[in-house]
Amino acid sequence: MMGIILLGPPGAGKGTQAKKLTEEFGIPQISTGDMLRAAVKSGTELGLTAKSFMDAGGLVPDEVVIGIVKERLALADCGKGFILDGFPRTIPQAQALDRAAAELGKEIGFVLSLEVDPVELMERLCGRRTCTGCGAMYHVKFNVPKAEGRCDKCGAPLVQRDDDKEETIRKRLDNYNRSTAPLLDYYKGTGKIRTVMASGDIDAIYRSIVGILR
Ligand code: ADP
Ligand code: ADP
Ligand code: ZN
Repeated sequence: MMGIILLGPPGAGKGTQAKKLTEEFGIPQISTGDMLRAAVKSGTELGLTAKSFMDAGGLVPDEVVIGIVKERLALADCGKGFILDGFPRTIPQAQALDRAAAELGKEIGFVLSLEVDPVELMERLCGRRTCTGCGAMYHVKFNVPKAEGRCDKCGAPLVQRDDDKEETIRKRLDNYNRSTAPLLDYYKGTGKIRTVMASGDIDAIYRSIVGILR
């Protein structure tokens, strides 16, 4: 299997679907959001730089994210393939990815464009809960854990992300439209884009993704 890019606005279900793909195909999920949050949590220099941008609902500077993705792609577990979740998010990031992939001898096989109605995105993000132990995603209405506030998989507490507040969400959605949506044009013509209607049942969406990849 090759590299897969999951493209879509905040709340489209990139993380949810990436985790399922990782479990079934054994290829790593490369989530720049998760990596940046881990850096913030451990208080590294990278984390300190990233935090102010993330809290404000802005994008972390290209050179910072490009650096961490290049390092990550070079690790051995990306040999069989990888799932990029939340990267690239700008044209310069996409260009850097093309260069890095060429240098490392890796190929992007598919760019999956996850499409969801904007009203639904807001509802999804306001109700999102994340596991502090394993990173699994839940939703207070759409993907309810068996025991309230606890992860089904590892039992750790669930939390709401700092940036999942209505005002910050609005900024992130604006950023998506301004900086990330143009990537659809960037990848047009590569023959790699597939549109995934990403509303409705999580497992049904997953099956349509697997259908595309096979
Ligand atoms: P979501 O799942 O809601 O789309 P992410 O977890 O992917 O959000 O990202 C959270 C935040 O981390 C973003 O709002 C942004 O500040 C930062 N971030 C993540 N990936 C990138 C990226 N590729 N480029 C710039 N900033 C990023
Ligand atoms: P992204 O990584 O694209 O920001 P997530 O995978 O974190 O998106 O999903 C955002 C929120 O929406 C989470 O609370 C998740 O449980 C929920 N969610 C994901 N897919 C669906 C779906 N198909 N229908 C309803 N809610 C969903
Ligand atoms: Zn968990």
